[in-house]
Amino acid sequence: MPKFEAVDFYNLEELLTADERRARDAVRHWVEERFLPVVAQHYRAGTFPMELVPELAQLGVFGPSIKGYGCAGLGSIAAGLMMQELERGDSGLRTFASVQGSLAMMAINLFGSEEQKKIWLPAMAQGTKLGCFALTEPDFGSNPGGLRCRARKTADGYRLSGAKKWIGNGTIADVAIVWAKVEGEAGVDPESAGAIRGFLVEKNTPGFTSALIEGKLSLRAALTATLEFDDCAIPASALLPQSGGMKSPLLCLNQARYGIAWGVIGAAMACYDEARQYAMSRVQFDRPIGGFQLVQAKLARMLTEITKAQLLAHRLAQLKDAGTARHYHISMAKMNNVEIALDAARTARDILGGVGILDEHQCFRHMCNLESVKTYEGTHDIHLLVLGEQITGMPAFAG
Ligand SMILES: Cc1cc2nc3c(=O)[nH]c(=O)nc-3n(C[C@H](O)[C@H](O)[C@H](O)COP(=O)(O)OP(=O)(O)OC[C@H]3O[C@@H](n4cnc5c(N)ncnc54)[C@H](O)[C@@H]3O)c2cc1C
Repeated sequence: MPKFEAVDFYNLEELLTADERRARDAVRHWVEERFLPVVAQHYRAGTFPMELVPELAQLGVFGPSIKGYGCAGLGSIAAGLMMQELERGDSGLRTFASVQGSLAMMAINLFGSEEQKKIWLPAMAQGTKLGCFALTEPDFGSNPGGLRCRARKTADGYRLSGAKKWIGNGTIADVAIVWAKVEGEAGVDPESAGAIRGFLVEKNTPGFTSALIEGKLSLRAALTATLEFDDCAIPASALLPQSGGMKSPLLCLNQARYGIAWGVIGAAMACYDEARQYAMSRVQFDRPIGGFQLVQAKLARMLTEITKAQLLAHRLAQLKDAGTARHYHISMAKMNNVEIALDAARTARDILGGVGILDEHQCFRHMCNLESVKTYEGTHDIHLLVLGEQITGMPAFAG
């Protein structure tokens, strides 16, 4: 495979600290050496290379911005650059790290008790325990606040009932962070009845089953599941005590969306680099196709959009570290960067002509993956409407 050249048209390298470069380069090197050689076979088989999980943990990609508990405690730029490099490999690889770190570990970090953090976070940072984040249900995707999953209070805990859909790592997780509405019997504070709370549900809990979703034509190198809870008894200690209301899962989703805004730049860079290299070597009409104006226009457009996406992500990271990033800033970056990455993947496929559909090249795989990334963690249109609400003060997405 020809050597990858990352996009840095506006010399953002100059703004990075030595630590940020080190974090990025370690993941970049690992992805090249260990992941890219095996991704096509896993994509075909619909499997994830589980044997690489300890190496991912060594790189510090699980919960990189969490402080303490064996996590790297990195700043937002370093954490973002790590996601970029993972997704240059495959969106499924970045998804694996996002589900583990930004969703499951972040939920425990933000809403767990000290004891829960000590039990789970160090093991999850090491990849010896895996987590998943179960919010979406068969009938509630863009509108998760309507969820039907119920946690009925009992004398010594809860009884969990309901189903979850599209749960990343759901079949391999040791613990599921399950979002459910608390239902009262005796002992429930009437104020918390009906409130959405997070619960740690361990695998092998009687009544808890998971099944792989088959037939995905996107994110094939990632495991996605349905979960079912059939009157599942969980102890009172399973509750994440600081969780309460829809804002709790949304805080975790913000973290994951931030990672996506960076991650998809990696996928876009992979596609741009592949298209550029191909255009320089593929000869038609006795000259490299890169010499034709239409091909140059496509490459120029890709380079421009990737550069704009990098600037957006970089500034978002600064706002995040300053504590001034708001959910609508993250919505804009997630929405825009996924869209330009998807365009870059489609354009790269076009520039590669017929061979662009083969899995010996990367662009078609990235293109298929990015269709999912456009939909999950809030669809493109829902993020547009988040911005619409910010502009007008009128929420167009709700009843
Ligand atoms: C591969 C994959 C992995 C996932 N991983 C997870 C996970 O780990 N955990 C988890 O909890 N969830 C996960 N999800 C779920 C994901 O977040 C949802 O698919 C997403 O929120 C969209 O929900 P939906 O698929 O039900 O689409 P719907 O909500 O049914 O939307 C369908 C279409 O209607 C549009 N739409 C909906 N409401 C409005 C509105 N008010 N105004 C305008 N348009 C609207 C949407 O934009 C979309 O185009 C995953 C999904 C996928 C595909």
